[in-house]
Amino acid sequence: MSDLDSKQIERMSAVFQAQKAAFEGERHRAYKDRIRDIDAIAALTVKHAEAIKDAAASDFGVRSRCETQLSEIAYMASAAKHTRRHLNSWMQKKKVAVPGNLKPGNAYIRREPKGVVGIISPWNYPFQLAFSPILAALAAGCRVMLKPSEFTPAMSDLMKSMLAEEFDENHVAVILGGPAVGEAFTKLPYDHLFYTGSTHVGRIVSKAAAENLTPVTLELGGKSPVIMADDFPAEKAGETLAFGKFLNAGQTCIAPDYVLTPKGKSRTVAESTIARVQKAYPDWATDEDYTAVVSDKHYERLNSMIEEARSAGAEILQAEGSDPGNARKIAPTVVLNPPEDSRLMQEEIFGPVLPILEHDGLDDAMKRVNAKDRPLALYVYAKSKKTARSVLEGTISGGAVVNNTMLHYSVEDLPFGGVGASGSGAYHGEYGFETFTHARSVFETPVWHPSRLIQPPYGKIFDMITK
Ligand code: NAD
Repeated sequence: MSDLDSKQIERMSAVFQAQKAAFEGERHRAYKDRIRDIDAIAALTVKHAEAIKDAAASDFGVRSRCETQLSEIAYMASAAKHTRRHLNSWMQKKKVAVPGNLKPGNAYIRREPKGVVGIISPWNYPFQLAFSPILAALAAGCRVMLKPSEFTPAMSDLMKSMLAEEFDENHVAVILGGPAVGEAFTKLPYDHLFYTGSTHVGRIVSKAAAENLTPVTLELGGKSPVIMADDFPAEKAGETLAFGKFLNAGQTCIAPDYVLTPKGKSRTVAESTIARVQKAYPDWATDEDYTAVVSDKHYERLNSMIEEARSAGAEILQAEGSDPGNARKIAPTVVLNPPEDSRLMQEEIFGPVLPILEHDGLDDAMKRVNAKDRPLALYVYAKSKKTARSVLEGTISGGAVVNNTMLHYSVEDLPFGGVGASGSGAYHGEYGFETFTHARSVFETPVWHPSRLIQPPYGKIFDMITK
């Protein structure tokens, strides 16, 4: 463990205690103060937009500035706007019906801030995947400790200094460091722990949270499939597959991981995908809008997955481009029919490589998808609404899109989260507010209430209630 890591571990308990004390001193953060917090998050995002793009470019080597604008900055600005617009109604108590035998009375649910929450974020969208849960936690009236990824140090440093402009450390604090710091971070007795990252680390985080009975949200990964039906025009598939797969060079938790096409259509889908991506990046190697792979480890992992499939006899199609040198860029790649037991079909790919295989009908496709862990997203390509519905009914996934990929992420009123091995719990919009608040049940009765009559000695009451 580095000296820096040891310092952060020492510091984090003190920060946690200070946040606890500050929360106890305030308890129910007022609406107007939460609006200030939301506005501060929105203003920081806009003010530092160029610095956010610079930090992402520095961490990835090459990171499309346009994609950083679209997927991190514009996304956050619109999420903050949505939260600001709806916070008042989310904070209202929700009345529920009172059963006749308990009347008169008022029953309602108050959404109360949980307290001090821990957030652990990954490297792939390093700004948005940290700021979006922070926004939800602040809207809920919580205090926040963030542990961003060690793989994107420029962005982590930037977020720390940005947040310090608007928030005291006893309100929002950033703890820097790698897995050792992460491990110590998860051992603090938060009122909620929110983790985004791999399924493997998600298990470790979940165990640590269980020790403190801390409720946990797990936003994990997995293999998100595309199931294509016979009635979908295969030559059009590449239009949306290429965007979904090659945005951020495939380093997206809900990127289509593999495609199952009807018999005889895999080559058409593969060729239309490569044609679309070639149009997007005439030379991907030099194009600043084609993002690099984040680290040497992931670069080597992806290349070895492609080589393994090649050695097993799978056909590899790649977009043309010049030599990227040591820019850690991998050509947009489609792999036709890799073996089911290859790493490409067993592990989450998380890079610019798309396996395309054929199914023997939709029942076969669904059976193959259902044999794997439950995915974070599932994409159905089908012209017939009935067919699309039957695929949705025959499968389980965190979210789904029909005839496109990934767009559900940006619909703020949809809960975003996984199921089974791809996660538990959800956020975005009101679902984020709910995650970081406790639904407190309140029942108010007048001072004199008929329930007083039902108590010992029961006598006649016993006869009445047993009849
Ligand atoms: P990761 O699990 O390696 O790291 C995520 C975070 O966990 C980092 O901050 C890291 O420092 C921390 N960490 C590592 N070891 C830890 C430990 N033992 N205890 C506590 N914290 C620890 O994930 P990653 O490589 O950064 O991200 C890629 C994965 O995240 C992919 O599987 C992807 O699908 C998933 N992901 C999911 C979503 C989603 O919203 N569901 C979004 C983005 C990424």
